[in-house]
Amino acid sequence: MKKLLMIALAILLISSMFVLPVGAVGEGPNYNGNETIKNERLTSHEDLVKQIERAAERSPNMEAEVIGQSVKGRDLYLVKFGNNPDNPTILFLTQQHGNEQLVTESALNVIQKLSTNSRQNRELADQVNVFFVPRINPDGAIGDVDFDISDHIAGGTSTRANANGVDLNRDHTNLTQPENQALHYNVLQAYDIDYLVDFHHQGARSAIDGKLVSGSILYPTNEGVDPAVREMSKQLGKVMYDAVESRGWGLLARYPGGTANTIARNGLAYEYGISTLLFEMRGMSDHVNPNTILGQKSNGYLIQQGVVSMEAAIAAIADGSINEADTSFWDTLPTQYFMPQE
Ligand SMILES: [Zn+2]
Repeated sequence: MKKLLMIALAILLISSMFVLPVGAVGEGPNYNGNETIKNERLTSHEDLVKQIERAAERSPNMEAEVIGQSVKGRDLYLVKFGNNPDNPTILFLTQQHGNEQLVTESALNVIQKLSTNSRQNRELADQVNVFFVPRINPDGAIGDVDFDISDHIAGGTSTRANANGVDLNRDHTNLTQPENQALHYNVLQAYDIDYLVDFHHQGARSAIDGKLVSGSILYPTNEGVDPAVREMSKQLGKVMYDAVESRGWGLLARYPGGTANTIARNGLAYEYGISTLLFEMRGMSDHVNPNTILGQKSNGYLIQQGVVSMEAAIAAIADGSINEADTSFWDTLPTQYFMPQE
């Protein structure tokens, strides 16, 4: 009987990961202080490494490369699908902030799908290079850090900064941290990258028009960024925005971001001429502020939001349709604001 119960529970858990709740949108189930936050269902560092290595073994078009180590010595990976320098290249970067986890699940999902030996994947590999740096902050992701995070709501299962307490997304000009040195020296400076999406999670109470959003996006806004680079960023944003909006369960806002080059969205566009897009998903896995936390019931559609937007970007770059994307929607995309809990 106990065994049956466990099986039923397991089925429930699995289905809640993948079934998209109807009308979930940004209005999906929330952390209200009475819902347990369980992060064990997220992929561990060890399983992430296994999944990446297996995908690379399975696919003739995929390679996994260790680009460095975190402060605590965890291997950092670059996954490369497609290997033709004449083709356009897009890089998906996830989890600079350790407590922003689901975007890494999205990346692992897309890596898995690209690793199968289908005709579609073989054709894609002839058209586009798709790179991933998933979970650049593995120490923060499991709260293995050299500072106290016991004040976090979920008990410090994960945190924003790296093990040294440095916010990696404020370190892109100084490169003081091993994670950023690995990313810059062994990826950004080693390859010719055209597009980059920097995936994050934001607070759970951002809204437009009185509705909570499922995410937000922004192109590089530093005035030193080449206008042509910025325009391509806006096109990337259009493609990913349309992919989410067309599903009916997503609602995206414009992210109210600044112009500093210490963050990836601006700094990488400015320094390397990469067309960058910031993509923020709703809610974090652990934090001191309850307004940022999102319970796990929303995981399924947020992971899917990452998957469908990544796949749309890959397809549009592969067939060149991204170059026709109309960027005028940016002029009317509402900027999100904070909506307090009722
Ligand atoms: Zn972040």
